[in-house]
This record gives sequence, C-alpha cells and structure tokens, in this order.
Amino acid sequence: MPSVQLPSIDIPNSPPCIVCASPNTVPVFEISALPADTIRLWWSRAAARSAPKAKMGLTYCENCGHLFNRYYDNDLVDYEEDYENSQIFSPRFRKYAEELADRLIATYHLWRKNIVEIGGGRGDFLRIICDHGHNNGVNFGPSYHPAPEDDIPANICFVTDYYTAKYAAVPANLIVCRHVLEHFWTPQELIDTVRQAVGDRPDLVIYFEVPNGELILREQMFWEFIYQHPSYFTLSSLAKLFTLCGFRTTRGHRPGGNFLLRKHPGYGGPRSGAERCVRCKSGELA
Ligand SMILES: [Zn+2]
Repeated sequence: MPSVQLPSIDIPNSPPCIVCASPNTVPVFEISALPADTIRLWWSRAAARSAPKAKMGLTYCENCGHLFNRYYDNDLVDYEEDYENSQIFSPRFRKYAEELADRLIATYHLWRKNIVEIGGGRGDFLRIICDHGHNNGVNFGPSYHPAPEDDIPANICFVTDYYTAKYAAVPANLIVCRHVLEHFWTPQELIDTVRQAVGDRPDLVIYFEVPNGELILREQMFWEFIYQHPSYFTLSSLAKLFTLCGFRTTRGHRPGGNFLLRKHPGYGGPRSGAERCVRCKSGELA
C-alpha cells in the first residue's frame, strides 16, 4: 500500500490565556489585516484608506473558555483622539439603552441614588439612567472632554481619568461598565480596580456588559471581530475572571442573546452574584 505524504501544518505557539493564565490554548483562526482603529473618525478618504492595520489570531483557552487575539498590540490602539463610539443616534440602540436602564432601576431600586459609569464615553447611558431614576451620575474615562456648548445635566459630571481605587470614595449604588472590558488585554486589572473600589460596601451593585463570544462563534458573526477587542468572553471565562478577582458567582445563565450581565452586591459577608442575558426575554437563572 503506497504511503501518503501529508502536508505539514504550521501551528503557531499560543501564549497563556489572558484571563486564567492557563498554557492550554489553541489557535482558532487568523485574519491577516484588520483596521487597528475601527471607529476612529478619519477626515479624508486617503487617510481612511491608509489607516494602520494589524493581524488577528483568535485563540481559545481550553481551561476557562476565553477567546482572545494573541497578536494584540495595545500600542496600536488610541482611544484619546478622534474616537467616536456613540450609537445613541440609532433608535434601536436608544430603545435598548432605555429598556436596560429601566430594568436596572426597577430591579435594584435605583431611584435618587448614585450611579458610577466606567468608560461611558459621552455619557449617553448615564444620562438615561439618571434621567429615568432621578439619580446622580459620574462618568470616568479619558476619551470625552466636555465642551462648554455640551448640554450636560446638573446631576451628571465627567471625570476625564481612568476609574481607579483612588476614586473609591465616590458615592455609588451602581457601577456600570458596558462594552469596555473586552478592550483590555489585561482584563484582570480593571476588575481588580473595581474590586478595590467596592471595598466593603454591601449595597453596591456592579453591572458589566460584554459581547457574547459564544454567540459570535455559534452564529458566525465574524463582523464582530475587531482589533480593539482583544477579548471575547464566554460565560465561563467571564465567571472565571470575576472569581479570580475576589467576586463569587452563585448563579449563571447561558445566554441566547448578545450580552452578558453580572451583578455583585458587595464585599464581605455572604457573597452572591448573577449573570443573565439582557436580550433574552426569559431571564432565567440556572
Ligand atoms: Zn483561560
């Protein structure tokens, strides 16, 4: 029987998982050139066409289920210049934001309370949840510098800085962070910071929302892969990250929608938490 010479397959070495540090990671696929600044506003066609591009190598962690771009280079991404990420002009996005705000207000009794948002850009969501619940809000983030002509309500202020433990004294009944965590090459740094800022406040609710990596793969939503997202969380990797940072998960929900939610009522004493899909109407918790 003749022997068959199989072609050699070049399988690159994969780095440890950026969530759990496990060495058991495997490459999934590669994209040779993605725009490094997906939602930067370019002022000419020529500038847009010459936008820097970079390689993506989606990698899967067999330990925690995380997906990440093993070629990600943080130096190629700039959030502080001509970065425009507001989607509130879309009626569909606005409706979603309003429904989410109303649900958070009703679920966690957020009327006349203090809301902290991390990385909320121009504060579109913060304005809604503060307006609907008559709350006070503070947004942290380096990308938005309020201009005098900007119409900013009196109950909202902006801190042009990253949210760190030095702001732990800022009053908060809810810390909300939507579509930020997936931008971190070292996501544990952000959750560690939040963990330190939470301290021993038992009545504090934390809400994180990220794209659902499981759904992206299952539905083959490959337009969701952008260079500014080094991370694509699954339910298991999100739970692993929060657990490693001192949070505790007691309930979980495998979502049918595109987003995940995590709640944590505080540090000290019995800890509990929940995840649920905010687009899945069932809202069932396992
Ligand atoms: Zn992992």
